[in-house]
Amino acid sequence: MNLSLPPRIPLARLPTPLQPLDRITEKYSTPHGGPRLWVKRDDLTETAMSGNKLRKLEFVAGAARAQGCDTLITCGGIQSNHCRTTALVGARLGMRVQLILRGEEKGIPDGNLLVDRLAGASTAFYPARQYFETLPELFAHWCDFYAGRGHKAFCIPTGASDGWGIWGYIAAAEELLADCRAQGFEPEHIICATGSGGTQAGLTLGCHLLGANARVTGYAVCDSADYFQHKVLEDIRHWETLNSQSVDETSLDVRVNADYIGPGYAEAEEPVYRAIAEAASLEGLLLDPVYTGKAFYGLLQELRKGSYRDCENLVFVHTGGQFGLFPHREMFPFLL
Ligand SMILES: *Cc1c(COP(=O)(O)O)cnc(C)c1O
Repeated sequence: MNLSLPPRIPLARLPTPLQPLDRITEKYSTPHGGPRLWVKRDDLTETAMSGNKLRKLEFVAGAARAQGCDTLITCGGIQSNHCRTTALVGARLGMRVQLILRGEEKGIPDGNLLVDRLAGASTAFYPARQYFETLPELFAHWCDFYAGRGHKAFCIPTGASDGWGIWGYIAAAEELLADCRAQGFEPEHIICATGSGGTQAGLTLGCHLLGANARVTGYAVCDSADYFQHKVLEDIRHWETLNSQSVDETSLDVRVNADYIGPGYAEAEEPVYRAIAEAASLEGLLLDPVYTGKAFYGLLQELRKGSYRDCENLVFVHTGGQFGLFPHREMFPFLL
C-alpha cells in the first residue's frame, strides 16, 4: 500500500536506528528460548526535541501551518515530554507556544519544565482536579486569549494523539518494518509504552495498512486496558474522518497490557527503577520512569513468564523521555 502523507514539516532525524539488545536478550531468555530483543531508538529523533512526540508534531505542525496558525496550544503534566517537544518545535518554527500544565509550580524548574522555560513557552498551571474537569474550557480560554491579540492558535490534544498526530507513527511503522527487513527479519511483536494512545494507534494502523503480521502491544502507564482499547480506535476514527478513509475496525488488533501501571501515572515502585538501571548498565540504554522504564519492566516480566516464547524477534520502541528521569533522582537509593 502506498501511503500518501499529508503536509509534514521535517524536524526529526530519520530513520532512527534499530539495535539488538543481546545482553538483555541473553539474561531474559527462558529454558524454552525466547525472542531476540531489538530497540527502535526513537529517543534519538532529535536531541532537545527527542522522543515520540516529534514524529507526531511533524504532521501536527504541518496542519497548523497549512491552516495559517501562528500559535500552538497544548497540555500535559508538569514533566510532560509532549509539552517540552511542542515548546521547542514552536521555537524552531517561530510560533508562539502556550502550555496548559497540570500541577503546581514549585521550586526551581527541572527536567522538561526547565526546557519549556528555555524555549520561551508561556506556561499556565492548574490543580489536577480543575485540569481534568475543565480541560476543554481551558483550551477555549487560551484560544480566545490569543485570538483577542490577533493570533491564530492551533490546539493540540494530550500527547498529540489524534488523527493528525498518528500519521507520525503510521510513517514510523513503515520505517520500522523496513529496518527489520534490512536486518533480515519480520518482527512478530512490536511493543511500546502507551500513555495517550497515539503511538500505539499509529503503529497498529500502520502495520494494518502495510499488511504486516507484526502484533503491536501498548503497555499502559496509566488508565486501563479498556480506556486504551477505546482511545486507540477513537484516534483511528479521527484519522479516517480527516483523510476520507475507512478501515475495517474488526480487522484491527488493538492489544493492551495494563498489568504494570503500578501505583499510577508517573508513579513507580522500586523494580521499575531497577529495570532502568539494568538497561543502562547492560546496554547503555537510558529509559525513563514514567513511560519507557515502566513498559520495559513489564516486558521483562512477560519474557520471564514465557509470554513471548514462540516469538523470534521482538521490537521495543524507545519513545524517549530522558529529561523526565532526573526529577526522579531520589528513587535510586539502591545505587548508593
Ligand atoms: C508520550 C510518551 C509515550 C506515550 O505515547 P502516547 O502516544 O502518548 O501513548 C511514551 N513514551 C514517552 C517517553 C512519552 O513521552
